[in-house]
This record gives sequence, structure tokens and C-alpha cells, in this order.
Amino acid sequence: MSSAVMNGVQMAGGATTMKAVAVTPGKPNSAHLATLEKPRVDEIPNGRGVLVRVLRVGIDGTDKEINAAEYGAAPAGYDFLVTGHEGFGQVVEVGPKVTALKPGDFVVATVRRPGTSIYDLIGTNDMTTDDTYYERGINLLHGYLTEFYVDDAEFIVKVPSALKHVGVLLEPFTVVQKGITQAYEAQRRLRVWKPQKAAVMGAGTIGLLAALSLRLRGLEVTVFARQAEPNMRADLLGAIDARYVSTVKTPLLDAARMYGPFDLVFEATGASSVVFDSMQALGKNGALVLSSVTGGDRRVEVPADKINLDFVLGNKLMVGTVNANREYFESGVRDLALAEAQYQGWLERLLTHPVKGLDNYQQAFELLNTAKDAIKIYYEVAPLP
Ligand code: BGC
Ligand code: ZN
Repeated sequence: MSSAVMNGVQMAGGATTMKAVAVTPGKPNSAHLATLEKPRVDEIPNGRGVLVRVLRVGIDGTDKEINAAEYGAAPAGYDFLVTGHEGFGQVVEVGPKVTALKPGDFVVATVRRPGTSIYDLIGTNDMTTDDTYYERGINLLHGYLTEFYVDDAEFIVKVPSALKHVGVLLEPFTVVQKGITQAYEAQRRLRVWKPQKAAVMGAGTIGLLAALSLRLRGLEVTVFARQAEPNMRADLLGAIDARYVSTVKTPLLDAARMYGPFDLVFEATGASSVVFDSMQALGKNGALVLSSVTGGDRRVEVPADKINLDFVLGNKLMVGTVNANREYFESGVRDLALAEAQYQGWLERLLTHPVKGLDNYQQAFELLNTAKDAIKIYYEVAPLP
């Protein structure tokens, strides 16, 4: 057992409270430090508990909305919500019935917990039809922006030690993995679907990871984003042989005529209006994946007859995707490893803005609101061993 793990055990056995970054749902800009009881492995029934020491936690647009009081809810019995759903940590202790994990393992926990629908009962809580959904760090359950957490081994996925420097990217990567896998699944309707050209709308973390995932599957990838070249996102995409198109220079539909039609389009701009352009950029028999969580109430005027006609005459498919279950965390780990083998060092370049320690939560939220050049902002809660 490494000394880092020994430290973890000693710490877990020492102090009985810990710090967490929390918000008060309903109250904008209410981020603060909360104090929680340190969790114990025996809180989880049937000997299936896993106690994890948090090392890194990424933050994203969802956290921004939660701090703006546009999204998120506190767990029953609390007036605050511990944030953080993109965790990365190391196992400190496991319950007697846990065999797949051991102290010292690096892990990431899934986000959504089962509800009551049939989809929840078969391990696909990401497909729940319940109105109320439970997501750690987002809705009705505390998250990972704290020192330790405990959960059932069912929801904790091992990350090989060789990937520890990029493990904090796993959760956002799973959102991409799910979207693309679902498109391929749905496209089995075509018997012989062999997509060649893909478009990704948006070059944020999700857009960049979608481009990576599609390149790993051998597709020709064009990414559409606003920012003019040269810029860091275009450079990153060049490094994985993906094309970058600035829609300020070339309007999306013009570029789609030049580089499409696309067999697969992954929409990740966060702007609902782009969905209708994406529908038009999609080729015959193509699949459009929608992943932007758009909480606003924007309206747009669209050429509805034309879009509908092309969709109908082209047998096109559009599919929404949110969250990810364990299956996509496992495939995400495999694709992180493939990415490191094929494009060594590329993933680490996405980790642009580290924030040192939970105490610096103000800085983290400020970066989230203002840093235009940020790809992944993440807390270094504890140093990587
Ligand atoms: C998270 C997902 C979650 C979604 C909706 C995203 O930021 O990464 O896990 O399902 O927000 O709450
Ligand atoms: Zn997220």
C-alpha cells in the first residue's frame, strides 16, 4: 500500500468533519463553504460501501447555472447543496462485500442515482422517465466538491493509474460516449450504416471531447465554433486532424455544403437555435445528437417546411441525450486510454485552469463566469499521489 493511501486512512480515522463547497438553491451567487460529517463506509448497506478521498473535481456550465440559482435542488433535510459532479478520487476503504475495488484504486463516481422507472431498475438511470431525478452535486443529492465521499460500489468506476492525470475528464467524456453510442444504436435501423463525415457544433469541453471520440472511431470531423482562427481550440483540433470552421468567417450552412453532408452531427453549443441549422447540415439517413441543456426561453424563426421536408425525404434521425450510466463510464475509460495511445498528451491540454483547494471556490466561479480561454476548470482538492 502506498504512503498516500496510508495518509488517506489516517485522515479518514482522524478528524470527524470536513469542508465542502455548497450553494443555497434559489439564492443566486450563494457559494460558500459548508461543514459536513465525514462519511463512513458502513453508511452504505450490504457491505457495499466505498469511501473515496477526492483529488480533483471539474466544473462546467451546470455548476454555473446552479450558482446562478437557475438549476439544482438541495437534498431532503438540507438548505444547501454540495456541488461538484465531475469527480476524481482514490479509494480509502471498502466494505466487506466489495471485491472489484480496493484501497489505492483511482476512481470516478457516476452522477445520477436510480429512481423508480423500469429504466432505473435495469441500471439505465440515465434513461429514467421519472419526473424527479437524483444527481449527485446537481439535484437532491450532495456532490463531490468535498474531501471524502461514500457510495455504493455499483456507482464507482475504476480508472487505471496510468490515466490519473486525465481522470477528471471522465465524467464529461461519458456524456459524449453516451450520445455517440446511442446514435450508433439507433442507426442499426439502416442495416449498413457506415458513417464517414461527422460535424460537431461547439468547441467547448464537450465539443472537443466529441471530436476526439469521433476521430478515434475513424471519422472525418469538422467542428463549428464562433471564434476566429488562430486560437487554441482550432490548434487542439488540428492536433487530432479535425477541421475547425469559424462560423463568423463561413456561415454554418455554407460550410456544411463544402464539407458535408454529414452522416452524424453532435450538437454541443448550448444554444438551441443551432439545432435547426444542424438539422439542415445533416445528410440523408444521418443522425443528429442533441446534448445542450438549454434552461432559457429563447425563440427563433426557422424554415419549418424545408427542414421538415428534408428530414422526411432523407429518413433522418434526431436524438436527445443526457447523463450517462456505468456502461459509458467504462467505455469512456477505454477511450481515454486509446486517446492517450493515439494522441499522447492531448487530453492534458484540455486541463487549462487548475484551482488550488476548496477554499478558492470564489476564484473557481469567477473563472467559470469570465475566462473565455478556459476549457476545463478544475479544483485540485488534494495533490495527485
Ligand atoms: C452532467 C450530467 C447531468 C446533466 C443534467 C450535466 O452537466 O454532466 O451528468 O445529467 O448535467 O443535470
Ligand atoms: Zn456536467
